[in-house]
Amino acid sequence: MDENCNSLNCALPEIGYLAASILFIMGLKKLGHPRTAPTGNLYGAMGMLLAVIVTIAQMDFGATDTLLIIGTGLGLGALIGYVMAVRVEMTGMPEMVALFNGFGGAASALVAASEVFKLIDSGEWSELEELELRVAWIAIGLSALVGWVTLTGSLLAMMKLKGGVEIFGKWYRTPTWGPEWLNYVKGLILIAIIGLLYMTIKHPGEQDYVIAIIALSCILGILFVLPIGGADMPVVVSLLNSLSGIAAAFTGFIIGNNVLIIAGSMVGAAGLILTNIMCKAMNRQLIDVLFKSFGGSDKEQVTRTKVGSDPEEVAMVCDGISKCVIIPGYGMAVSQCQHQVREFADILEANGCEVKYGIHPVAGRMPGHMNVLLAEASVPYEKLIEMDDINSEMGECDVAIVVGANDTVNPAARSGEGPLAGMPIIDADKARVVVMVKRSLSVGYAGVDNDLFYEDKTMMLFGDGKQMMTELVSSLKDL
Ligand code: NDP
Repeated sequence: MDENCNSLNCALPEIGYLAASILFIMGLKKLGHPRTAPTGNLYGAMGMLLAVIVTIAQMDFGATDTLLIIGTGLGLGALIGYVMAVRVEMTGMPEMVALFNGFGGAASALVAASEVFKLIDSGEWSELEELELRVAWIAIGLSALVGWVTLTGSLLAMMKLKGGVEIFGKWYRTPTWGPEWLNYVKGLILIAIIGLLYMTIKHPGEQDYVIAIIALSCILGILFVLPIGGADMPVVVSLLNSLSGIAAAFTGFIIGNNVLIIAGSMVGAAGLILTNIMCKAMNRQLIDVLFKSFGGSDKEQVTRTKVGSDPEEVAMVCDGISKCVIIPGYGMAVSQCQHQVREFADILEANGCEVKYGIHPVAGRMPGHMNVLLAEASVPYEKLIEMDDINSEMGECDVAIVVGANDTVNPAARSGEGPLAGMPIIDADKARVVVMVKRSLSVGYAGVDNDLFYEDKTMMLFGDGKQMMTELVSSLKDL
């Protein structure tokens, strides 16, 4: 034991880490409900701040430039994070989440890599006992594998969520491509990585094996996300989120940091639970999402036509109804019309109509997207009804107002074919009248034409969500 270390001094960092872990656990618990989620977020942030402070307090600042390097890194990171968070549009949040997942994976992998190269260069590995060495090398290999897979996979996922990438002013669509033989390539790469891991244990002083693991992991990350697209993206985004936590936990083992192990395991476990929820929402098996590539067909070309309605006509249909279900989707996030939607609901309610919101688990572009938007417009949480519950009420609904949703109400999902096959939807088509607020007859994220547009009971309100909902509100007021 360190001579300068009286028992309290030694215990303080562990106590700090324990307090940080407790804050993480409490934060996670509170994140489970929209009403308590902001407090949960705050607890998590406080836990992270405490963990950072405790870690810095333990550092040896003997070398003059250590403080400068740490300070510059923290300052730059905080500044970039702040600017990104302030500037991000609500519609850009999913891409930012995907990017941050990737950064998490990369940070863990870089820390693990620096530790391993330090160990190799200093020759300290030769002083480790055989078992210790094996454990260290397995953790290092797994951290490299998971960390780099997460980085390249998340970058590709981010571009897929964005729809493509702009290079020198030219827009390139992100490909979704996954022939069956690609699975064998992925399998071979994985076997090669396991082989290399074995070699790192056999020849612990060799850097080349670690570099090869990193390179193959980067390729594996891309090949893993490449075939996934369309409606399956929520699953892969939540899985990458989980992987970034697992990478952090492995790195925690390598550098012997308990709070990193705990925080990483919690992110990993929470991400896996979310992945499971997303799989259920999509009616998919994770293994199928990862290896079958049914989200990846090209967008369908829409050739049919439908005459649009106008806000006055829709307002007249809504006059005197007793039950209305509002089904929001990605278009509500794009047009930011949640406040107008709420105003519309308030008017109907004032006229004695029961209004509920049907929330599909994968509506929008990130888990909980609709809940966040509607909470911002102060829509009471009790009115946000999950898909399974609202579906049992759709038969007695007079008017279903679909605001910028498409895939999540597309009856094509009930068929056994196409990118949406088998995905449960909100049964908007069971309502007596369906009003679809969107700009055109174009397809949704999964690229599948929607028969609901062409049904006789469907009124298409073509236009930007905010403009249409504003006009609908004033038409209702004029009645
Ligand atoms: P969709 O992506 O299926 O459809 C959104 C519709 O919004 C489009 O058809 C578009 O039609 C319309 N729209 C766009 N801009 C506007 C605007 N300004 N005003 C009015 N309408 C607009 O949305 P859903 O929410 O129904 O489905 C989500 C899809 O995204 C699912 O396939 C899901 O799997 C996928 N996904 C979900 C993620 C998640 O975690 N929730 C993550 C990644 C993908 P038009 O152009 O005609 O206006």
